[in-house]
Amino acid sequence: MSFEITERDLAGRAGVLLTRRGEVETPCLMPVINPVKNLIPARELKDNFGFKMIITNSYLILKHFGHEAPDVHQLVGYDGAIMTDSGAYQLLIYGGVETDPHEIVKFQERIGSDIGVILDTPTGGFASRTDAEKTVEETIRRARLSLEWREDPTMLWAGPIQGGRYLDLIRRSARTMGRLDFQTHPLGSPVQIMEGYDYSTLVDMIVAAKLSLPPDRPLHLFGAGHPMMLALAVALGCDLFDSAAYALFAKDDRYLTVRGTFRLDRLTELPCNCPVCSRYSQKDLLEMPKKEREENLARHNLYVTASEMKAIRQALKEGGLWELVEARSRAHPKLYEAYKRLGKYAKYLEENDPVIGKEVKGIFIYDKHSLARPEVMRHRKRVIENYSRPPGKEIGVFIPNPPERPYIKSKEYKYAAEILSGQEFHICFYGEPFGVVPSELSETFPLSQYECSEGIGMNVAKELKKFISANAYRKVFIIDPRSTMVIEGAKTLRSIDEIRGQLDEDSP
Ligand SMILES: [Zn+2]
Repeated sequence: MSFEITERDLAGRAGVLLTRRGEVETPCLMPVINPVKNLIPARELKDNFGFKMIITNSYLILKHFGHEAPDVHQLVGYDGAIMTDSGAYQLLIYGGVETDPHEIVKFQERIGSDIGVILDTPTGGFASRTDAEKTVEETIRRARLSLEWREDPTMLWAGPIQGGRYLDLIRRSARTMGRLDFQTHPLGSPVQIMEGYDYSTLVDMIVAAKLSLPPDRPLHLFGAGHPMMLALAVALGCDLFDSAAYALFAKDDRYLTVRGTFRLDRLTELPCNCPVCSRYSQKDLLEMPKKEREENLARHNLYVTASEMKAIRQALKEGGLWELVEARSRAHPKLYEAYKRLGKYAKYLEENDPVIGKEVKGIFIYDKHSLARPEVMRHRKRVIENYSRPPGKEIGVFIPNPPERPYIKSKEYKYAAEILSGQEFHICFYGEPFGVVPSELSETFPLSQYECSEGIGMNVAKELKKFISANAYRKVFIIDPRSTMVIEGAKTLRSIDEIRGQLDEDSP
């Protein structure tokens, strides 16, 4: 086993990928290195920026240095784990490569790559269905052959998942590739989809791949490296990333932040405290020779990316990934749309999110989209499907969530419990964000460890109705000072004091 999962939050995982150059902590982002001449010396990426693994292109090495190329670590000057790409990206962009699947597999073994990629046929973001289908089948064919050709058992191999934006093809591709002896799986084609900011489609693609892959295989979101979208991708279950963005954007005088990309000449401040931004002003950078500016911008872009990966790993470990995704989604309306798309996959997130073993941390509910988070979903589902009221408690009394928490320590509850002292009363709370909370459960996580902004637009009446009909009470009272909560089979009262009167009236 080369991958071990140590912690989870949502569908995100923290883990360790074991390579022959040591352990690599995931989620992990690999800066893309140009093997011929890189803007930033590769050894600095580990020593100064903390990147434990990098990715370079074996096809470019083969083209430039031929079969006499030295060991890839020696060539690029990096002693950590190195993944090599196969030229498939060049195949997608230029329509052809001067190598073949066999040659590039053997070449990657020979130059000592720690993780190799087979020469697959990328679907791309704009392929027709017929073409997409062909790329999936051809990639599978090449994958089977490539696994037969490999000889070095200590090297890891990546089996790309194709299918483009056709989700059924992604599922087919992931199912088949997942059965083959690969150690990681890159998801192809996101670059062109992200260029159009189509993050919602990206969410669909990631979930389609995840649901069809064995859970113990790391998923690599190929070509995705903008810091603003990394938290979302991790939350969905991506483990590996690569970034050429740091260098590409720098070349174009663009400055990366978690709030988006900015043109250097449009900034008046450098909103960052990395070594570059502490030393230079925006004006200094603009006045530098182009090459020097590009290098400094690339460094800043790397710092901000490394720092976001740290923030993500920290959030994941403390169970705060949802809040981070929610905050980052405000960087761009399309990213916010993708965040809202999580609602469609609430079940997927809930099933992957750990129920136990997670640090108990208060959850924040900002608006109705936060209701898709696993803690809320889980309670709402379980309180209907797996719960039955305590025996003998035949009269349901529903009171609005009191401000104090846990609810059963509130003065509202104490008062209700005092005047309804009979065995037959079952006191429950209702309101946002959990719908119905039976009093005997109100101390369990997260029912008293949350903060919710007011009026998030949950349909509380619907939750009450479901709960009441699932529990077959003899009588039901809903306490609602505004008398707006009207539900069939229940009596709505303005105050708890009216209950005794009601019961006296009913009994002869
Ligand atoms: Zn900076």
